[in-house]
Formats: sequence, structure tokens, C-alpha cells
Amino acid sequence: MMKKILMIATGGTIACCRSDAGLTPLLSCQELIDYVPASRSFCQVTGIQAFNIDSTNMEPEHWLTIAGLIEEHYEKYDGFVICHGTDTMAYTAAALSYLVQNSPKPIVITGAQKPIDMEITDAKTNLLDSLRFASCPRAHGVAIVFDGKVIAGTRGKKERTKSYNAFSSINFPYIAVIQEEHILFYLDDKDRCTGPVSFCRTLNPKVGLLKLIPSSSADLLDYMAGRYDGVIIESFGVGGLPSYKSGDFRQSISRWIGLGKTVVMTTQVTNEGSNMSIYEVGKNIKEEFGLLEAYDMTLEAAVTKLMWILGRTKDPEEIRRLFYKTINHDILWHG
Ligand code: ASP
Repeated sequence: MMKKILMIATGGTIACCRSDAGLTPLLSCQELIDYVPASRSFCQVTGIQAFNIDSTNMEPEHWLTIAGLIEEHYEKYDGFVICHGTDTMAYTAAALSYLVQNSPKPIVITGAQKPIDMEITDAKTNLLDSLRFASCPRAHGVAIVFDGKVIAGTRGKKERTKSYNAFSSINFPYIAVIQEEHILFYLDDKDRCTGPVSFCRTLNPKVGLLKLIPSSSADLLDYMAGRYDGVIIESFGVGGLPSYKSGDFRQSISRWIGLGKTVVMTTQVTNEGSNMSIYEVGKNIKEEFGLLEAYDMTLEAAVTKLMWILGRTKDPEEIRRLFYKTINHDILWHG
């Protein structure tokens, strides 16, 4: 039976045209669909233009709009494909993993490194692969499809700015690979998706990021307390906080926790995750303030998960419980 797919276009390079001002997303959703006539042999695609922006301009409001469109049309379609810029695609995929949970239907996010109207481009392959995966009865949940790989929505990271293999799956295997018309599953677990699909309609965008460098001052953290309800501190290696003179992070962390705000520690190192309990620079301060830690989660997942959680609760115990709950394969281990 022909699958019914809803394609939601949001802009990005895939929809770009050249102009004097640089590449700008101008192609419509229907124009994108028309570039992949081969999809007509296995699915029937309906298009919605959510917006047409460079994903540099993506904000949490846009994620809510995309999730809202999926919710509104959920019953009528077998799968969903979101065309998106690559720059913030990993954030959107992670955000949708929290906004739309337990979906037995596939929700695929894709884009391209080259516009679809160029002679040499990855756009047509990525779009066709995405429609194919979204039409597959064994596929489910939120995933990125790019360069023949299917990556769990919480595990993607843009690691290359120009090559076709722009995305990696961090600390987690690919869900599947797509070769021509074949989908080879490495993780074939649709039978474990039992609960009903659930949609969330709120996010708290007041989440900040502080990336440490040697010399970072804790003043930055104090400043951020005035603007954010939660902060993610990207530390070094497995994780720690400086205690040198110009950066008394202990004081600032104490202030954050005293204000009832959330502090999450993570690492700048892409692979293998954090574990603050290893070194003295991490262990003591973590225990003293009960800091949360992202462990093997990506930064993109940690940021959007915190926005999702802080949109639901202010209770520290509930925040901790939700943060360590595995959603769409986002965290495999926590101490
Ligand atoms: N700047 C573009 C965007 O993220 C890049 C891309 O789509 O590849 O919208």
C-alpha cells in the first residue's frame, strides 16, 4: 500500500537559491517534492511550508511549531519528513525527540550540504532516502537521515561543515544505513515502542551554555544567573571546575543552586562522555551541590532536554529524574 507522508519544509541549504546576498532559502516545499519524482513509486507526499529560514535563525518557538504541525496531522499520515538546514539540525532533531515521544510513526529530519537545484548535490539522495525511511513499516521515532545514515534524533552532531558526511552519531551506533533502495537496520526495535505517542507543547528557552577555556572567569556564571533558569557548563575532559583565583566557581555554583536553578555539567570532548567523579576537581563540587551531568549525551540533547524539563517542572528531584530518564536513546549510563 502506498504510504502517506507529510513533508514539512523549514528552509536550509536544501531549499536555497543563489543571490547577491549569498545563498538564501527560497524554494517551496512543492518544488522540493518535484525534485524527487522517484518517490512516487512508494509514497504519496503532501507538503506544508512551515517557514523558509536559514537554520541559523532557528529558535525553540520554531521547534514547537514543527511539533504542533506533526501533532495536528499525526493521524492522517504514516510518516513525516522535515526539511531543515544542517547547521542546527541536530538541535531540532533532539528537541523533537523530547516534544514527540514514543512515536510508532517515523519522524525524519533531513537537509543537504548543497542546494537541490545544483547539478552536483546530495539533496536529492537525502530527500529520497528520507521519504523511503519515513515510508518503512519498521521505522519509528525521531531520526536524522543524511548521507545514507539513519541517526537517532538525540545522537546527531554536525561534525563537518562542507562534506556530504556532515553528521556523526555520537556515542551510539547508527539506527540503519540506506543503500540505494535498501534499508539495513542495525537497531530494529519497533516492538519496544509500546506506549502511545505523546506530544509536549511547552519548552523553557531560558537555558544557557558556558564553554570553559583556560582563564574563564566565574563572573560569567554570575551574570548568566540573571538571565537563565538552567545552565550547561561545558568543561574539559571527563569534567571538573576551576578553583583558581579569578574563577571561584564554587561560589557561583553555590549561588545558582541557592536560587533554585539547574546546573548541568558536560564535556567539550565529543566522544565518550563525562564522568566528574574521577578527579578531585570534579568529584567534590559535584557531590557538594548535587550537580547534574550529561554523561554520554550530546550537547544538543542536553540543551533541548533541559528546555523540555524546565518547561514542565521546577522541582529539583523531578528535574533529576527526568534528566536521567532515557528518551530516544539519549543517555545510556549515569552514575
Ligand atoms: N546555513 C544553512 C542552514 O543551516 C546550512 C545548511 O543547511 O546546510 O540553514
